[in-house]
Amino acid sequence: MMAGKRHLLAPGPTPVPEAARLAMARELIHHRGPEFKAVFEEVQKGLQWIFETDAEVLSLTCSGTGAFEAAMINFTRRDSTIVAIGGGKFGERWAEVGSAYGMKVVEVAVPWGESLSLEVLAEVLTATPEASMVTVSASETSTGAWHPVEALGRVVREHSEALFAVDGITAVGVQPIPMDAWKIDVLVSGSQKAFGVPPGLAFVAASERAWERYADSDHPRYYFDLGRERDAQKRQQTAFTPAISVVLALKEALKLMEEEGHEALFARHQRNALAARAGVEALGLRLFAENPANSVTAALVPDSVSAKAVVRQMRDAYGVTIAGGQGDFADRLIRIGHIGFFDGFDMLVAMSALERALADQGLDVDFGHGVAAAQRVLSA
Ligand SMILES: *Cc1c(COP(=O)(O)O)cnc(C)c1O
Repeated sequence: MMAGKRHLLAPGPTPVPEAARLAMARELIHHRGPEFKAVFEEVQKGLQWIFETDAEVLSLTCSGTGAFEAAMINFTRRDSTIVAIGGGKFGERWAEVGSAYGMKVVEVAVPWGESLSLEVLAEVLTATPEASMVTVSASETSTGAWHPVEALGRVVREHSEALFAVDGITAVGVQPIPMDAWKIDVLVSGSQKAFGVPPGLAFVAASERAWERYADSDHPRYYFDLGRERDAQKRQQTAFTPAISVVLALKEALKLMEEEGHEALFARHQRNALAARAGVEALGLRLFAENPANSVTAALVPDSVSAKAVVRQMRDAYGVTIAGGQGDFADRLIRIGHIGFFDGFDMLVAMSALERALADQGLDVDFGHGVAAAQRVLSA
């Protein structure tokens, strides 16, 4: 084990700010007492603020995928048809959840790294009038691509009665995804991404339109019955024992986000993303996403280099944790996360460790080139 400082730049989990860490170190409180209610009320308000919605944002104790599953089995029926927009591991996960529950799933294949075109979605929806839900991952963390959620939502409403369900897990708190203004029916997120707290909570918010479908939904469910959860959370309670420590941490993290404000929060993420993109490109790597999200920078390494080896070297030799690719791109892509509580200097750390790791793989690296490119963006 190396002795130096360690840096977590994975696209989740993300670094936890000190105020949130300290909140978890305090004596545990009971989730049926008044103190928890007061904390949870603040958390609920903070979540509505960052989701930009008047709908309740329900907190579930599970990872993000649990919120996908809850969204799907509470707002559709067993005989429903799901139109699942692919394009990466998380977009495709919606299709897997739908299939697991025996629903008919129409997968809209999108090559990894690309974003779906509006024309293609319109065609699919016209051919699938029975669709009850259209799903997409706004920020597709496996490829670094951003899907044009606002425009896709408009196409859904124009061509279909289907609900529009969006995985905002690495979008909420990173770049604007105003749930009400964009008429998103179901929006999900998770604690270990932009919220900068440990894994343990997932969030799901639903429009009134979605809640109308809830009444008609006939899926078997128990833990993930969102109606029961909503009744409890109206009283600042959860149906079952929540991840209390994560709730305590979340209150602190949301406070930091609110102090920073929407605009500054999104601008900081964008600046870090632009710096990371400029840095990797200056080092001769190619950005993978044609329309990159501000959450994660995914870049193809040169053919002579193993992405896995770069990621391993950055972690083991330099203490910098980033992520490799997923699926077919496991050994071709590196992914640098800048979701949550990062500043520009974190990007410089990532670039300098990347330069060293690429040089260790035998590339002829002009040291400082990636750092300088990032630095120029940050100081502009
Ligand atoms: C992290 C992530 C998820 C959720 O993964 P879990 O491991 O279940 O928390 C879902 N979608 C996207 C886009 C993600 O980045």
